[in-house]
Order: sequence, then structure tokens, then C-alpha cells
Amino acid sequence: MTNEEPLVSAELLAIMQCPACAGELSERREKPALVCADCGRAYPIREGIPVMLVEEAEEPAS
Ligand SMILES: [Zn+2]
Repeated sequence: MTNEEPLVSAELLAIMQCPACAGELSERREKPALVCADCGRAYPIREGIPVMLVEEAEEPAS
């Protein structure tokens, strides 16, 4: 339980938004990604860098 560091900095998270719908993003830790609260797309975080590309995003499962 020592790995509580943010995946991306809070400052960065605050200025980023979903490139598809401009929704708010939140961190997902199990499989590092930023998940959009509005459209549900998950943008992968690779080596600490969020990949904010709609083509790279996981579509919401439904
Ligand atoms: Zn979105």
C-alpha cells in the first residue's frame, strides 16, 4: 500500500480534458489510464505519460 503516488501530477490532471468530449478525467490505477467521466473512454498512461489520443483510447464497454 505504498504506491499512492499519483499517476500524473494533480496540476496536469487539472488542465487536461477528454479530447473527444472535453469531459473531466480521473485516474484509473489497476491498468493505468485516465478515464473520462462523460464518455467513459480510457486513455492509457504509458511510462508516466498520458496518451491523449482518441484513436488510442479504450472505448467504454457496453
Ligand atoms: Zn470524454
